[in-house]
Amino acid sequence: MEYESVIGLEIHVELNCATKMFCDCPNRPGDEPNQNTCPICLWFPGAIPKFSREALEKASMVCLGLNCQIQERSAFDQKVYYYPDLPKGFQLSQAHRPLARNGWLDITGQDGKTKKLRIHHIHMEEDVAKLVHETEGRTPISLVDFNRAGAPLVEIVTEPDMRSPYDAMEFIRALRTQIRYVGSSDCSMESGTMRVDANISIRPKGTDQMNTKVEVKNMNSIRHLGDAITYEIQRQIACLQGGEPIVLHTRLWDPEKKVTTAMRGKFSGPCVPDPAVAQILVSQAWLNEMQARLPEMPAQKADRFIRQFGLTREEAVMMSAERDLSEYVEAVINHGIKPKTATHWLATQFLPALRERRQTIVDTTVKPDRFAGLLSMLERDEINANAAREVLNQLFERDDSPAELVEKAGVRQISDASALEGLIEKVLVANVSAVADFRNGVSKAMGFLIGQAMQASGGKANPKLIREILTKKLGA
Ligand SMILES: [Zn+2]
Repeated sequence: MEYESVIGLEIHVELNCATKMFCDCPNRPGDEPNQNTCPICLWFPGAIPKFSREALEKASMVCLGLNCQIQERSAFDQKVYYYPDLPKGFQLSQAHRPLARNGWLDITGQDGKTKKLRIHHIHMEEDVAKLVHETEGRTPISLVDFNRAGAPLVEIVTEPDMRSPYDAMEFIRALRTQIRYVGSSDCSMESGTMRVDANISIRPKGTDQMNTKVEVKNMNSIRHLGDAITYEIQRQIACLQGGEPIVLHTRLWDPEKKVTTAMRGKFSGPCVPDPAVAQILVSQAWLNEMQARLPEMPAQKADRFIRQFGLTREEAVMMSAERDLSEYVEAVINHGIKPKTATHWLATQFLPALRERRQTIVDTTVKPDRFAGLLSMLERDEINANAAREVLNQLFERDDSPAELVEKAGVRQISDASALEGLIEKVLVANVSAVADFRNGVSKAMGFLIGQAMQASGGKANPKLIREILTKKLGA
């Protein structure tokens, strides 16, 4: 029997708010343990939570970025369970009345067609504390760090619309791009600001039955997400073929062994309305204000890059995939560089150079004006491509302007025909057999002669001009 998989995702995203969700403690989970705490987020009895407006705004921007409808009324519930990282016995979450519903994102499917993947809802919740297990020493101990307790999160719950690991990976890429654009989180699976759980079931291909699902957790990269789903689909098919039923439970992905292992039965404790946190009532005026704050999103930006700059679809999508990159390329173009030159040099030279140096487009010292300065010398034929690459590397190391670096390196291009004439004469005299070959119709001899002339100029000659002069002299 042929099977198909049915996949839904639950994505926790940490919002980059200055404070926690229900108190004024700094939202910096990585600080010294238990530095950022107060009676509210230590969950002492009697402490009254007060809901953060910034958390609501950042969460709402996520909802709008993911095409969700923000609900007029939403409210917090107590999700009741006990665990050492949640000693108060409940987590504040929106189980019954989430902030937003009915969203979607488009991905390009494996068949190249656009596929709309739906989002069921988005709710807000507080993060729990963090357990630190120390296994060194005579007795293993577990410590609790409350810096993360009460940190603001949104949870995005999709419809089970995905049919392959590929769909799930593309969805997460698209989601990450949208949320980074609205500026609510950096969505890093590696550092834990985005955590993705996958609900996976299988069914005979072509049917629409919904079978028991298994939840898989603990993937810390998009690649691991794909690997974990692939493994889990194969495991479930093997179970069914062996006559073993699939039971509802949670499994952990082991990135070393590349397997999932059973963890526990899936949690389903009671959720009761919280009496302390006020209901959230959203007015149309406030919604309009949030809408107005929404930046130009990647799909619109790619369309504009095609229209305004004449980029191909592929170039435009690549240049608008990250907001920082899109703003950088636009700044370079606004310094008078041709869009094609800017795009080509960013993709093939600048981004690889950044990666090599482990810098980002935000923290690099090569700001758009300096990069544009270099490219404008290239466009004006003052330097050739080899020299531009050399000077680009120096831009990362020094503060000098591109023009200063070109002078210091002595790589200004020789575009003076009279200076090149004499040099080319010497090359022709020294390579009589290549000249003869060319006259006998061996066209690749031209390439050889150009190479010789470039070498004689120390790499500084304008190759276009050399070709022109050679063509004239050889009477081609
Ligand atoms: Zn606090």
